[in-house]
Amino acid sequence: MQEESERATQRGSSRCMQMVAMAAGILGNAVRLTAHTFRGSSLLLSANSRVIKVPKFSQCLTICSSSLAIEENTELTNTNRDELSSTFFTSSTSSDLHHIAVAKKRNLKDMTFPELQEWVESLGQKPSRAVMLWKWLYGNGKWAQSTSEIQGLNREFRAVLEKHADFGPVLVLQGIHHARDGTRKLVFLVEEFGAQIETVLIPGPRNRVTVCVSSQIGCAMNCQFCYTAKMGLKGNLSTAHIVEQLVVAARMCSQELGLGLVTNVVFMGMGEPFQNIDNVIRAAEIMTNGQGLHLSPRKVTISTSGLVPQIRTFCQTSNCALAVSLNATTDEVRDQIMPVNRKYKLMDLLDCVREELVTHRPGEKVFFEYVLLKNVNDSTDDAKRLVDLVCGIPCKINLITFNLHAGSLFEPTPLEDVLLFRDIVASSGIVVSIRHSRGDDQKMACGQLGSVTPRHPRRRNPEIHDLT
Ligand code: SAH
Repeated sequence: MQEESERATQRGSSRCMQMVAMAAGILGNAVRLTAHTFRGSSLLLSANSRVIKVPKFSQCLTICSSSLAIEENTELTNTNRDELSSTFFTSSTSSDLHHIAVAKKRNLKDMTFPELQEWVESLGQKPSRAVMLWKWLYGNGKWAQSTSEIQGLNREFRAVLEKHADFGPVLVLQGIHHARDGTRKLVFLVEEFGAQIETVLIPGPRNRVTVCVSSQIGCAMNCQFCYTAKMGLKGNLSTAHIVEQLVVAARMCSQELGLGLVTNVVFMGMGEPFQNIDNVIRAAEIMTNGQGLHLSPRKVTISTSGLVPQIRTFCQTSNCALAVSLNATTDEVRDQIMPVNRKYKLMDLLDCVREELVTHRPGEKVFFEYVLLKNVNDSTDDAKRLVDLVCGIPCKINLITFNLHAGSLFEPTPLEDVLLFRDIVASSGIVVSIRHSRGDDQKMACGQLGSVTPRHPRRRNPEIHDLT
């Protein structure tokens, strides 16, 4: 009797998760689900590396007419996590799909334009309504946050949106820090993770406004000079989390600061974008859509510490710009300061970039970022080796002055040595510039983002399998 009820409970659990996965639009032949944590009345699951929040978990339970093996608000242990994880489901019947619509509204900022169009049509609406909705979300400075902000909305479509669409917000703006140079840091809470991320808004000369977005909560790469690395990785941001950072910054720029439009986006905030490549590529696609945010793909730059397979995928599927953080000219030094190099050596990395540019991005340049660390990677020999390494790769080199942070073992290279390094590289004909810190008096510059909990110090030498 007890066994039968346990089996029923497990069946209920599987069924509920199956619905949840499909509710998030991740219906496929096989979906791998992993339970993460409960927060309030929400259950967090990740499916195919996308995190799903089920806001009304109890509602989900009712729909399934069964109970879950794990009670709401239960802290996950290894035992009950196993029960919920590593379960593979096959696709479902249409009657399940009916329930799913009740279980979860679709977050609009998670969808690229073709997906939004498909979704609008699946709800029995004309495709032109997707164009209209998209423009209200992203175009012409409207930034609609609910149906009530959309004018001229057909009554039937309004009702459909109210029932099925989630406008967000997915991020809670908790603070804005102002630096002396006009840079602003926006601190957001990501409720599902109970953790914060940071976005930096950088006004520049000639009406340039750059927004630096985060792609992960924390980072797993463990670059030794980076403050964010000390947090470790807490999770991947969804497409909507990434897009919303830009939308909030853009709204602030145009409506409050009078700075006009955002002209550039760099994925150089918290995280390694290519460890969250699907969501990053989708977010970049939304940002560059001509009917919405309309950024030039050349002005949306994704920066990576050097994940070779993902560089290939990116070059072949996205038209946005690529930046690679080189930061050393020998494997010996790079192994030490960027553990990712133990898996993908300098030569493999540079060969991959060279090949991909030639094959898939003719006429384009890659940006190589090089943080100058005193007595580590800043000698004249390093400058000469750097020139040799990038030989034959259409590129631009950005020398970055090291931004100090608490507990850092490194020091910035003195200015005269930075200039000497730059001159050696420039004399070879390579385009090179020095990127000075922005907002570093308020911890907003490269490698200064995040907050570190002292109770969980990071290991200094991660195993390689941690890194990809
Ligand atoms: N993980 C990605 C993007 C985030 S880091 C990457 O590695 O490219 C963005 C840039 O900041 C990288 O070029 C990185 O090398 C640089 N950076 C990290 N810590 C820094 C620091 N303390 N001072 C200056 N630049 C830093």
